[in-house]
Amino acid sequence: MSGEHRSDVLIVGGGVIGLSVARALWNKGVRDITVLERSLPGREASFAAAGMLAPQAEADAPDDFFRFCIESNRRYSTFAAELLDETGIDIELDDEGTLYLAFTDQDLVELGRRFEWQTAAGMRVERLSASETHRLEPFASPDSLGSLFFPDDRQVENRALLRALIEFARLNGIKIETGCEVVKIDETASETSAITADEKNIQASKLVVAAGSWTSLIEGAGPGAGIPEIRPVRGQMIAFDGVKRFFRKVIYSHRGYIVPRKMGRILAGSTTEDAGFDDRITDEGIGRIRRIAIEISPSLENLRIADKWSGLRPYCSSDRPYIGVLPGRQRTFAAVGHYRNGILLAPITGEILAEKIVSGTENKYLRLFSRNSVRASVV
Ligand SMILES: Cc1cc2nc3c(=O)[nH]c(=O)nc-3n(C[C@H](O)[C@H](O)[C@H](O)COP(=O)(O)OP(=O)(O)OC[C@H]3O[C@@H](n4cnc5c(N)ncnc54)[C@H](O)[C@@H]3O)c2cc1C
Repeated sequence: MSGEHRSDVLIVGGGVIGLSVARALWNKGVRDITVLERSLPGREASFAAAGMLAPQAEADAPDDFFRFCIESNRRYSTFAAELLDETGIDIELDDEGTLYLAFTDQDLVELGRRFEWQTAAGMRVERLSASETHRLEPFASPDSLGSLFFPDDRQVENRALLRALIEFARLNGIKIETGCEVVKIDETASETSAITADEKNIQASKLVVAAGSWTSLIEGAGPGAGIPEIRPVRGQMIAFDGVKRFFRKVIYSHRGYIVPRKMGRILAGSTTEDAGFDDRITDEGIGRIRRIAIEISPSLENLRIADKWSGLRPYCSSDRPYIGVLPGRQRTFAAVGHYRNGILLAPITGEILAEKIVSGTENKYLRLFSRNSVRASVV
């Protein structure tokens, strides 16, 4: 591609984040967009995810990151409706809500604490007794002592979302170069460039790094360039084959979750493992997830495991995603480190980064998440 054609914007990485940024840029009038994807688009963490949009079930405190997640969840209704309109693909946004079960007195204390701060923060949350919990989900474990119900936490079929974003690209002439591994990025006064593993030099007016767990391996996108280090954190998942949908809601426990999908498929997850870039599935990991799922609902004991997989969550060492321009640069941007929440955060990430690239406007969250100071934290 060297010397041939210069895109307006190059995006390195075709996961849910890179593809959402591409769509948002196109919707803001950018017409010449190229996504450079090392393998195939939408096959890494974004494909492995469970698709939960669950800020209230996941958060520990009403901080900026929590509000950012809530805001992205709110945007999902419009995001899903627009994608359906734009591509004809239904991403199966499901509004049944999420239950968080307590199994011990300590779990009850934790749920009580969460109920208090979320109510004070103006969120909808209900505290349910054991019998109320079973009325809502008859197949939830009889050992559960009660639960919290989050009516506004929901889920989406993340693989359909990826199909929709790829179809959006196809319909609108956003180029996706597959098998194109970027090893280095650079910026001069007038342009940016991406150097590929086969030594092509691809130029563009602006460049966005959205390479998930592999970001820090790209020269010019590591901690030396001012983005905190991004590390892979493996998550394994299983899916049970059900015959009909006998859970309505996503159900969490302290140790994991189950996610009911259409046609009886039930996802269960997940492990949180520091295994470097090794994305293999292990018997130990799969066994652990199965036990967690059976704790949530003993009825799962009788169901066959139909599928198992794993993915690498992009964990940012600042403990928050990095979204915005790179320090000291004018034309190079990043949207990385979404860790456990990249599906949830795709609409808002695409929107606020595209706004910044197209008009220079900085949403308050972009200001917060592009000034991440690196601090030590435990995965
Ligand atoms: C088991 C599991 C369960 C999860 N569940 C949820 C959930 O329920 N809800 C939620 O919101 N989030 C969930 N997540 C997190 C979510 O999947 C991630 O945060 C999100 O997918 C990150 O998207 P991404 O586009 O940054 O990364 P990825 O999807 O990994 O995409 C990065 C892309 O960049 C490409 N790439 C990498 N390096 C290069 C290079 N040098 N050159 C070119 N291309 C490159 C890769 O091939 C890949 O396609 C889960 C993750 C896992 C693993």
